[in-house]
Amino acid sequence: MNGPDLDELQRFAVEAAGLAPWEWDITTQRVYLSPQWRNLIGEQDAGRDWLMDELLARIHPDDVEGVKIRMEEVLLGFKSRYMAEFRIRSGRGDWLWTEGLGVVTQRDADGTALRMVGTNSDISTRRRAQEALVTARQAAEDSNRAKGDLLANVSHELRTPLNAIIGLNKLLLQSPMNDEQKNFLHLIDSSAVSLLMLLNDVLDFSKIEAGKLLFENVRFDVRRWAQEAVAPHAVAAEKKGLQVKLNIADELPRTLVGDPGRLRQIVSNLMANAVKFTQRGGISVSLRPSPDQDDVGTEKLRLLMEVRDSGIGIPKEKQSAIFEAFTQADASTTRQYGGTGLGLAICAKLVALMGGGISVASEPGKGSAFRVSVVLSQVDDNDGPHTVPMTAEDMPLTGLKILLAEDNAVNELLMRRMLGQMGCDVDVAHDGEEALQMWRQGHYDLALMDVQMPKLSGFDATAHIRKMEQRTGAHLPIVALTAHAMVGDREKCLAAGMDAYVSKPVSAEMLTQAMRDALRTAAATSERPQEMLADVDMSASGKFTLPLPSAAPAAPTSPAARLLARLQTAVAAHDGDGILVSLLELRPLLQAQGLDTALTLAGSLEYAARQERWALLERALPLFMKEAERPNSSS
Ligand code: ADP
Repeated sequence: MNGPDLDELQRFAVEAAGLAPWEWDITTQRVYLSPQWRNLIGEQDAGRDWLMDELLARIHPDDVEGVKIRMEEVLLGFKSRYMAEFRIRSGRGDWLWTEGLGVVTQRDADGTALRMVGTNSDISTRRRAQEALVTARQAAEDSNRAKGDLLANVSHELRTPLNAIIGLNKLLLQSPMNDEQKNFLHLIDSSAVSLLMLLNDVLDFSKIEAGKLLFENVRFDVRRWAQEAVAPHAVAAEKKGLQVKLNIADELPRTLVGDPGRLRQIVSNLMANAVKFTQRGGISVSLRPSPDQDDVGTEKLRLLMEVRDSGIGIPKEKQSAIFEAFTQADASTTRQYGGTGLGLAICAKLVALMGGGISVASEPGKGSAFRVSVVLSQVDDNDGPHTVPMTAEDMPLTGLKILLAEDNAVNELLMRRMLGQMGCDVDVAHDGEEALQMWRQGHYDLALMDVQMPKLSGFDATAHIRKMEQRTGAHLPIVALTAHAMVGDREKCLAAGMDAYVSKPVSAEMLTQAMRDALRTAAATSERPQEMLADVDMSASGKFTLPLPSAAPAAPTSPAARLLARLQTAVAAHDGDGILVSLLELRPLLQAQGLDTALTLAGSLEYAARQERWALLERALPLFMKEAERPNSSS
């Protein structure tokens, strides 16, 4: 019996695969190219010995080094198989993409390679496909970027006039008019606001799609966060006669780390839907750690949030579609309830980005339960300052002296009115340069800075102020006002040294929130004061007072410590003379210890005390304390 003719089989396989074999005698540097090379590179001269250098000279200059390295790896025995993709000049003079594979078949006693055999094949089709893929991806990325830019611009163009409409309309609503007129204006307001919400949704959605969404990673107090997230919807629910319950599991830690703003967006969306689609009964929101924490590790926590309602419910067959963009369970929904069908799609994408998921259980006529899981980081509740432990609500804004940098006349009018209603005192600069000039001359408690201004942008003006402030250690709270609502704007503002951010159209609520945020961040620019601010008791009378015990030990021993404690008491009591006297006595001590920054700050405190600017004093005190208590000061 004859076995198969192996030679013939191999020849057949080689032909069928379009392989062109070669054999390299390393000692002589001669390479035998088999006749198949004629087909591969259209080289009539194949089927003979070539010199290795001759061959290398035909490889594309950009590829030849790579080939040499791959070969060397095999010759030296680092790798068992040679494999390289490169371009070789064909007999027709053009470049052909080829893949070479080979192995060493013979070594001498020292392991020096003597002989290598292998094959080459034509991979131009594969390369073309790869290149087409790269080009296509590039084109897609370009077009996506263009789309993103278009969205950013459109949003800018839409927000500016929308700002004017909403703002001027609010002003008009305060003037005398008959009921019908008032009604019209309310309709204008709600239409403009829903237009704005739609705009926000579309922007958010496209940002997520473009992978441009950045998440914050800050500590927040879970219970307080939950109350703040649920409260606005509870009001709306109560108006409909619905009960709202919030359950937070005891075993949930006090503090978690994540993006409270985005988390609020998720809960807010679910709550808004629950209120919208429920006519009687109630809504419950519950927060607890997931029983399944196996996959997240000890530093993370999988948090479950559930929003349950007794509303109209969702038919089984619609339950998965509602998480897709622009889908509503029922086409008549839009007519009856409004909405865009984007809310849940955004939620689903957000929770996915937070390492979790969203699901719904629902029965038509009985109600729905939306369940969300997200992965957040855990921290030791007792370690370090907290980012969100303050209730900012009561922080007084009345009496603040504000520098408003805004070049648009309509916006200026709106902001003036809004700030006026908060009881703030406003000076207006019309471009960045004027803003800088006014900042140098006046003493402001806070600046509102439009980012797009003639002469000097808000970014640049802020950067300038921050640089100058380095000398004094002062820190002007700056809120960025921007019509750009795209991702990255917030980061850009913060990177420029601004403390908070509010995008136009600006509502009074957003503005006060941002101003409070800025005051808080500004006070917290150094870590210590943040801790102290966290202890600020703001419950009484709208004014906040600094508690003594945490900062000053019960019985301060050194003279400096005693004086500092006295200063704190004086500040807490708004006792101007007490403050000035304490500072007067502290000065020589600070001087003796070379605490220059503390001295400069003492000057600011004196100024504030003379002007009776208590809010300013309270914010500057922690900074001063930190500087005055530098390690050597207690000795
Ligand atoms: P929309 O802006 O239309 O509310 P969503 O994505 O938030 O968009 O919701 C999509 C659809 O899912 C809604 O139109 C509604 O049909 C359904 N839906 C969402 N939440 C509920 C709920 N709590 N009860 C009943 N139906 C709901």
